[in-house]
Amino acid sequence: LVQVSNLGKSFDVNGTEEKVLHDISLHVDRNEVVSVLGESGCGKSTLLNIIGGFEKPTTGEVTIDGKTVQKPSKNCMMLFQNYGLLPWRTVFKNVELGLEGQKMSASERNERVFKYLELVGLENKGQQFPHEMSGGMQQRVAIARALVTEPDMILMDEPFAALDTFNRYYLQDELLKIQERSHTTIVLVTHDIDEAIYLSDRIFMMSKNPGEIHREIKIDLSKPRDRSHSNFQYYRK
Ligand code: ATP
Ligand code: MG
Repeated sequence: LVQVSNLGKSFDVNGTEEKVLHDISLHVDRNEVVSVLGESGCGKSTLLNIIGGFEKPTTGEVTIDGKTVQKPSKNCMMLFQNYGLLPWRTVFKNVELGLEGQKMSASERNERVFKYLELVGLENKGQQFPHEMSGGMQQRVAIARALVTEPDMILMDEPFAALDTFNRYYLQDELLKIQERSHTTIVLVTHDIDEAIYLSDRIFMMSKNPGEIHREIKIDLSKPRDRSHSNFQYYRK
């Protein structure tokens, strides 16, 4: 589905070229959950932004279904690391944003937004504004907004980082349920290796140093995982 080929990215920082991504190649198959790990500043968000069409690569390319990614697409939703909520819109309107331009009646639209607000436990907060909410609540709004269009693919940049353990476990399980039901392809950036092991089929480890090779970590998934946190201990052995 997604093919990242020899991707390189440089930014112009005060007139000097700063190379951030060095020759990244990876693929993501349909229905897969792939996690991207790597130390802070190694370029994970940059990689995700390029896959989502929000940034242009300097070298190499990203294709989805064989077509070069040029711009963001409705079929691929992005959950930004800084949430990307619009401060002048209510929570409800922020989530509804994803549905703009979709053929839907007003009641269908309201129902859909409510369904995902309920999923993240914010069904009573629809009329509040982002600044009136805690960081974790804002992150949950961003999760609802990424899910509301029920896209083919979701790119998630540390989606659960701001959440307490209870909400994190709950939403990780909900995400897995959605993924299993809808066969959504997910690329997930995280600093939490347990989360990566729990959620993903494959883990891609990014390196900061140009000389070092980005590599895939092999997880033994030969035993079918019972994906429930009550059995989490087993997978942590
Ligand atoms: P973290 O785990 O802290 O989120 P990351 O792996 O997501 O880090 P990126 O946000 O991709 O890292 O940033 C990688 C490098 O690229 C950093 O040095 C950052 O300063 C630089 N960078 C990212 N975006 C830009 C930009 N638009 N202009 C200039 N430099 C940028
Ligand atoms: Mg980042």
